Amino acid sequence: MKICVIGTGYVGLVAGTCFAESGNTVICVDVNREKIEGLKEGIIPIYEPGLKELVLRNSAEGRLSFTTDLAAAVKASLVNFIAVGTPPGEDGSADLQHVIAVAREIGRHMEGFKIVVDKSTVPVGTADKVRQAVQEELDARGVGIEFDVVSNPEFLKEGAAIDDFMKPDRVVIGADNVRTAEIMKELYSPFMRKTNRLIVMDVRSAEMTKYAANAMLATRISFMNQIANLCERMNADVSAVREGIGSDSRIGYDFLFPGVGYGGSCFPKDVKALVKTAEECGYDFALLKAVEEVNERQKSVLTEKLIAYFSRENATAPLAGRTIAVWGLSFKPRTDDMREAPSVVIISRLLEMGATVRAHDPEAVREARKIFGDRITYSGSSQYDILSGADALAIVTEWNEYRNPDFDRIRESLTRPVIFDGRNLYNVRRMKEIGFEYFSIGRNAAG
Ligand code: NAD
Repeated sequence: MKICVIGTGYVGLVAGTCFAESGNTVICVDVNREKIEGLKEGIIPIYEPGLKELVLRNSAEGRLSFTTDLAAAVKASLVNFIAVGTPPGEDGSADLQHVIAVAREIGRHMEGFKIVVDKSTVPVGTADKVRQAVQEELDARGVGIEFDVVSNPEFLKEGAAIDDFMKPDRVVIGADNVRTAEIMKELYSPFMRKTNRLIVMDVRSAEMTKYAANAMLATRISFMNQIANLCERMNADVSAVREGIGSDSRIGYDFLFPGVGYGGSCFPKDVKALVKTAEECGYDFALLKAVEEVNERQKSVLTEKLIAYFSRENATAPLAGRTIAVWGLSFKPRTDDMREAPSVVIISRLLEMGATVRAHDPEAVREARKIFGDRITYSGSSQYDILSGADALAIVTEWNEYRNPDFDRIRESLTRPVIFDGRNLYNVRRMKEIGFEYFSIGRNAAG
């Protein structure tokens, strides 16, 4: 099948590459010339495990190409995926300007029947706006060409995107036309080997499904963060509580890890957008507002622990002149994505309080530099380099290399053996035994 994917970010590049891997001819389009020129030379603009190999192979075999020429890509393709960003607008609603701009371009250049697929996360009703934008351009050209608009939200997770795309838990297709739904099924059939869960529904329900999924996951995280905060106050251990409730098949174990709050390019903006959508139709989505508020508060929990600890020595300016080493910058492991990363809030606060910050991250240093410039120092190589002479270690992202570190080396490097762990990576009792003061989320008192 001939496909174009417009928007070559985390979603577009992964989707385009995986469609090429299953034998289709795919053109990836982006307005960012630098990105496209790099991709033509095999330079991958993002870090995503396994992506580079697939891009290089499919490009070499002629199934995957990159261009800024949207007109030519649309003319050459039956299925046109829109995978551009939908960042939050000032009022929290999803900003659809890029989606609509692309829809207009498609309408301006299409010459035969096209399937236009919304893969970007877009509010209910966007497919109608896309349809209208394409139709207006066709009308302006005075041509009558058939087209269909499909909603096909993406559920991949950064850090495991290739695997998620190749072996999805489900694929949701919102289509109002049976013939188009069949074409979409054919396109996805190579990925249906793990589970044959291709769910076809009406367009509006498909659009809502994506927001409902992210809102549910964000709710679980905020819920568990509050349980953890309560555990701390009640001398209970949130890890045991997670075991206890997760074993109930109606609850399950996933997405119940407390931490420093959710971040990334999806949960924060999608929760805000759904609250806004509800508002627009006169409905108060009180639960989700609370989910968001709890998340904002959770981002300061780790810093509060640092402040409380150092207040014992200097109550008025507890962090002034302190050096804090931070492990992990990206919003989650196995990605370089810093969008809405809790590390940004945590580090900004540490700097505000007069601390010096040194940070390590295996992949996100380049992105973090765009945010912090030279206000902090970085290491992308050894996680131990930044510890020397630091007053404390704070763990913000649960990269694998932090899970079983050399504790002797940490102890020898820090001015005092104290760790503030925002991801509950270590055993509380063991940390005490090996001589660390150890603060984590929701289980300090128990152990
Ligand atoms: P991204 O910011 O990484 O990439 C978007 C790309 O679109 C950029 O390269 C940008 O240059 C390009 N673009 C913008 N306007 C364009 C135009 N007019 N023509 C061509 N290209 C254009 O975004 P992303 O993370 O890939 O997300 C894309 C969409 O998918 C969003 O709606 C997001 O909510 C959704 N989504 C993201 C994820 C994720 O994990 N990142 C998961 C599921 C869904």
